[in-house]
Amino acid sequence: MNSALSSAILEQINRATGLNVRHCSIQSIGGGCINQAFQLKTDKTTFFVKTNRADRLGMFVRESGGLQLLTASNTLRTPNVIGYGSAEGTAYLIMENIPMGGNGRAETAGRQLALLHRKKADRFGSTADNFIGSTPQINQSCDSWASFWQQHRLGFQLILAKEKGYHGRLQALGEQLQLQLPAFLDHAPTPSLLHGDLWSGNLDYTTKGEPIIYDPAVYYGDRETDLAMTELFGGFSDRFYAAYCEEWPLAPGYSVRKTLYNLYHILNHLNLFGSGYEQQAIAMMQRLLAEVSA
Ligand code: ADP
Repeated sequence: MNSALSSAILEQINRATGLNVRHCSIQSIGGGCINQAFQLKTDKTTFFVKTNRADRLGMFVRESGGLQLLTASNTLRTPNVIGYGSAEGTAYLIMENIPMGGNGRAETAGRQLALLHRKKADRFGSTADNFIGSTPQINQSCDSWASFWQQHRLGFQLILAKEKGYHGRLQALGEQLQLQLPAFLDHAPTPSLLHGDLWSGNLDYTTKGEPIIYDPAVYYGDRETDLAMTELFGGFSDRFYAAYCEEWPLAPGYSVRKTLYNLYHILNHLNLFGSGYEQQAIAMMQRLLAEVSA
């Protein structure tokens, strides 16, 4: 981060917080998949800053909106947003810095996730589209969960995949699966407030042991989609799921729907990171179609 950019960020921090900080030190930190991440240390406090190309500012605008919705739910802790903007050809998002990596209780995280999911909307979707990774995520409001999932999740990723040259078997199976969605999604879910991208890298514990979630792709949808994603890249502990289910048990059939919900993320990984995910997506579709023909 060059000094003109850090000065612009510092100015924004001063305006938003009323602090009058003149100097800071910047430390680059690893871990982000999509953006660059930094700690900006001042003599008063430390901030966490994510940056990307200026044309990606929209991602930070939506991430900020999602974090604010999660914060307002008063359930799982999320970082407070200080602001966002662009300068020197770079978009940035400024948050409070939260020291993480502590030992926390998985059951607290599980119970708080269920409480987050108790925050409801009237319809599926949201007031604005956002991003899943750097892929647009369509949140156009809808009364039917099966239609929402068909059109804005599965269908949307399959169209992107076609545009990227993934034809043949993937598309044929995808078409069959879309026709079967009402049969898979007949469990009458309600529109719950979701983190939307809840893999294990987006939940941690503060040094005081408090669970914290970040980097969301928020919308209102079936709560099982969040739980499914926690299981996608190495699940959470059994205590996490037990505490969640004690707070709010799952409907029968979750283990099948889990594959359908995670297919969205695998297709997104195919579209973001390439053909290494194509076989996995095909195998998931075959497993799902076998369920309805059984
Ligand atoms: P990306 O959007 O690039 O995936 P993340 O938002 O996941 O980036 O952040 C990258 C890493 O930075 C996270 O894995 C987490 O360890 C850490 N992190 C995220 N938000 C904060 C924060 N507010 N304070 C301190 N560390 C954070």
